Amino acid sequence: MAILITGGAGYIGSHTVKELLRHGHEPVVYDNLQTGHRKAVMNAPLIEGDLSDLERLEKTFRSFSIKAVIHFAADSLVGESMENPLKYFANNVKNSIQLLEAMVRFNVKKIVFSSSAAVYGEPKEVPITEEHPCRPTNPYGETKWIFEKALEALHRSGKIDFISLRYFNAAGADPEGELGEDHAPETHLVPICINSALDGRPVPIFGTNYDTPDGTCIRDYIHVTDLALAHLLALENLGHDGTAGVYNLGNGSGYSVKQVVGTVERVTGIKIATVESPPRPGDPARLVAGSARIRKALGWTPNYPEIERIVETAYRWHLNHPTGMG
Ligand code: UDP
Repeated sequence: MAILITGGAGYIGSHTVKELLRHGHEPVVYDNLQTGHRKAVMNAPLIEGDLSDLERLEKTFRSFSIKAVIHFAADSLVGESMENPLKYFANNVKNSIQLLEAMVRFNVKKIVFSSSAAVYGEPKEVPITEEHPCRPTNPYGETKWIFEKALEALHRSGKIDFISLRYFNAAGADPEGELGEDHAPETHLVPICINSALDGRPVPIFGTNYDTPDGTCIRDYIHVTDLALAHLLALENLGHDGTAGVYNLGNGSGYSVKQVVGTVERVTGIKIATVESPPRPGDPARLVAGSARIRKALGWTPNYPEIERIVETAYRWHLNHPTGMG
């Protein structure tokens, strides 16, 4: 059964493609390669196309007899979404709706969606469960939430089954060392700290006066392969009674920016220089997942919950791939 993986050449997408291949599925990657990497899709077919290119998208549905979709393709930087919101509404909403329209036309009923903890905004309490109200504080989170609303409405009308996975902070790299995180420019904390350990550039700490024990933001880091396995479980459980809906994906443990810097220092054995910098607009102080729902409904459990192991896999990949995914 061919499964369309939009954004399958990206960081989380490619780790998911690897797990799908390993478990005997037939992923077909659809990616514009703006941020993704050709090499990252391994043996899966790659269609180089943009979500806005309806003709190419429909041709892909037709020629591969697509039976399900995992939708990663999106713009995903909080800061950029504050500066250029229309880019986010155009890609994450308008183009993504076009994907749903194509699914309906081709009678494809299953979709797993890559959503985000950014839908919650500033949490009223942590850990955050799926019942927590959604009040996104940036256009990135708004667009993810709007698309979830479209999925819910389409599900209610009987046209699709969907699972939306609200990720907390993806980090780490393929434990077998084939895939890793390679963004340009890099904005994520773990690879920034690792790069800093390797090249000595100081890490900016965005905000040191948050209402947290050490004043820096707390996030829930989840290993990218654990995320990938959750997509596999979601796909395999789609259509079973009561599984449709939204699920948080995190480990349930929060680490501050300073704690992550400390972990990278311990794992690499290298002292990291930091500079106190202004807070990043739209950044909530604390995001930690309550992930009881996905554990119970889909039987998901993380294989790499420890922050040291997450950082260690990322560090090993960086050391072995100085030019990234190339
Ligand atoms: N962060 C930081 N310095 C950096 C990059 C990130 O202090 O160079 C902080 C950021 O403000 C947030 C946390 O690290 O509190 C994780 O940020 P990241 O961009 O990795 O993920 P996000 O939480 O935005 O999805």
